[in-house]
Amino acid sequence: MWKNRYWQTELWALLFILFVTGLIGSLFNKAALVVALVLLAYLIWNLVQLSRLFHWLFVSRAMYPPSAPGIWGEIFNQLYTSQRKHRKDLKKLSDIISEFRESTRALKEGAMIISNQGEIRWFNKACERLLGLKASTDIGQRLFNLLRHPDFIEYEAARDYGKPLSLPSPVNSELMLSIGITPYNEEQRLVIVRDVTEKHHLERVRQDFVANVSHELRTPLTVITGYLEMLDPDINPNLETVAKPLSMMRQQALNMGHLVDDLLLLSKLDSRSETGGYKAIDINLLLDTICAEARALSADKKQQILFHSHTNAMLKASEKQLRSAFSNLVFNAVRYTQAGGKIDIYWQQEGDDYVVKVQDNGPGIEPQHIPRLTERFYRVDSGRHRSQGGTGLGLAIVKHVLEYHRASLQIESQVGKGSCFSCIFPQDQVSN
Ligand code: ADP
Repeated sequence: MWKNRYWQTELWALLFILFVTGLIGSLFNKAALVVALVLLAYLIWNLVQLSRLFHWLFVSRAMYPPSAPGIWGEIFNQLYTSQRKHRKDLKKLSDIISEFRESTRALKEGAMIISNQGEIRWFNKACERLLGLKASTDIGQRLFNLLRHPDFIEYEAARDYGKPLSLPSPVNSELMLSIGITPYNEEQRLVIVRDVTEKHHLERVRQDFVANVSHELRTPLTVITGYLEMLDPDINPNLETVAKPLSMMRQQALNMGHLVDDLLLLSKLDSRSETGGYKAIDINLLLDTICAEARALSADKKQQILFHSHTNAMLKASEKQLRSAFSNLVFNAVRYTQAGGKIDIYWQQEGDDYVVKVQDNGPGIEPQHIPRLTERFYRVDSGRHRSQGGTGLGLAIVKHVLEYHRASLQIESQVGKGSCFSCIFPQDQVSN
């Protein structure tokens, strides 16, 4: 509206002046000359205002604009108002930026923005300490050229950022870092680096403790089991009165032996000392052997144990670990399925995945227990199952082993009908 108003006033004023001066000029028969002179004067006046505007904007850069009448005054005013608003916005923005800088500088965690190709765009002070980066030289570099740990390169190549990655710091191997990457738009990713040295140390202490205790228990246990074997009532009739306690002691010593073995295996898996160096494993051969062992274990229960092989695919894996995982599933099926029950073991391709399936028609598991079955020492009915010789660590071992092989465990069960445990291996674990 203002534009119209000022513009109209300006236009009318000019027309009025031209009219009046033209009229006066016509009295002397010089109307055209007078109008031309007035227009020239108007042009000069406008040029003067333009030069004042130019001087104010680009030369003096003074805070306040020059004053002028009419439309030029309004132009100066409007420019001044929008410049003031712009300055205020700029100040607000720079306040926000400096607040952000200050808060990220105070952060103990490293924060970094990288492009989709891995170029570093920005990082905070903590990244300098944790990763040894320097803003002056490293902005614009590819993070994966600066942080060349093989696990990190693999983590980036897999582009599976579900879990953070633990790595030693490149500047101080005593520091243990946890690095998480979160893509937040199509162009950029946020990298968060945490110092988890203390947590890692505590974890190591726990693992070492479990491993040491299990190891230390092994020797006395071997001695006890050895002596118990010698105390056989069949050979020594004097021992007949204590035959039952002796047999129970033998059973408990055996259970304890299994517990020690499982604890040692878990602590090895925890410390990742058994990962890597995988070979092509013939799953058919492995499951055949496990089935034979399961039939021996089943013995008096007379269960029907069948192996159905639908593929010859081999897996890139640790044979020891897979044997442990599959035998845990198969032996569980034997232990928990009633006498005369049926246990089917499958090795087959399902879509892109390869699956080892252990299915039984045993008692089944109530749904509320299923999510917790892979927790260490979790048992559905602790009294009953302990008496069946389980350690409570079997499914925890299965889950761990599968995680190391990029596989997952799926448990389906219906009370009264049976259970089905599936180990699902992605295609890239198959050995070609
Ligand atoms: P455990 O040594 O007690 O067998 P696991 O971790 O192997 O420990 O199994 C955890 C629990 O899951 C078992 O105590 C049992 O209650 C249940 N379970 C495992 N396999 C089966 C199965 N095939 N049928 C029914 N219950 C099962």
